Amino acid sequence: MSKPFGFGTWAHRVYDFGDSPDAVDTSVERLTDAGFSLIVVSVKNPPGYADFQTDVAHVNPAYPDWDPLKVLAESADRHGAKVHAWMCVFPEGANSALLEKTPQLAAVLEGERRIRWACACHPEVQAYELALYRSVAERYPVHGLHLDYIRTGEHCRCEYCKAQMAARGLDITTLAGKDPAYGEWVNWRCDRVTAFVEQMRALTREKGIELSAAVSAQIISWLFSNAQDWARWVEKGLLDFLFPMDYDNFARRVDLKIRQNLALVDGRCAVWDGLGKKSSNSELTTEALVEQVQTLKRAGAQGVVIFNYKALTDADLAAIGRMG
Ligand SMILES: [Zn+2]
Repeated sequence: MSKPFGFGTWAHRVYDFGDSPDAVDTSVERLTDAGFSLIVVSVKNPPGYADFQTDVAHVNPAYPDWDPLKVLAESADRHGAKVHAWMCVFPEGANSALLEKTPQLAAVLEGERRIRWACACHPEVQAYELALYRSVAERYPVHGLHLDYIRTGEHCRCEYCKAQMAARGLDITTLAGKDPAYGEWVNWRCDRVTAFVEQMRALTREKGIELSAAVSAQIISWLFSNAQDWARWVEKGLLDFLFPMDYDNFARRVDLKIRQNLALVDGRCAVWDGLGKKSSNSELTTEALVEQVQTLKRAGAQGVVIFNYKALTDADLAAIGRMG
């Protein structure tokens, strides 16, 4: 018998589930009663604070003594659901311990940036982010780790990246997309990001927990801009779950993207498509959300992850509960 279609949700903050252990338990029960089995909760947002206890990063001063991540993971466990600890991997903003100590690890990106990034390709950056994931996996009973912003944030031209490519005979200060050698830079950047995912796979295997990733629903454009070759990760067996972020008000486009992405994955990991109940690109009524979920089911996806938890209304949960 095939597995039932799964329901999950992304929560921006571990504080979103309530201000006491009892309140968290009530929130988790509200989700599991509606048929949700996965909560993906952010424990490191782009500014860089850790929303859990760790020695690796600066812990958010707002993080309370009663340890909400631990309470959430234990509550989910009691109610038959899983928690994946979500980090926005390579953005390192105003509260970053990494860039406070070593500012030269910042990515050098073109144009104005709303988010400050660390250089995703740099081994020291990758070692820091891996240590942060390791600390959450060692201290908390989470069921998985979740990768987000697992990409370069466009083209970094920091001293490290320039030197690495200069050693290969390429000057990336002048290299343009139409140059025949441009692909070498793309491949190197993709290989560096993939190397981090490989390390995360080794960590999750060591800990016996799952690995999931939020990725672009349109891989081809992000391969060049952000070095996110998630098709390669799937081919290498690095992920348990792929969550293409398919935040779109237009159901027909959701249908086309999920069918493309399922074809690329070809059964090598579970695809839970990410729908945007409320996101920067979309806002869905309960009826539109249900329609898009039905589209995913018809296409053959294994589940859905809804962005974001705070936007889910009682009407949404009741409608999802009726879908079974
Ligand atoms: Zn760089």
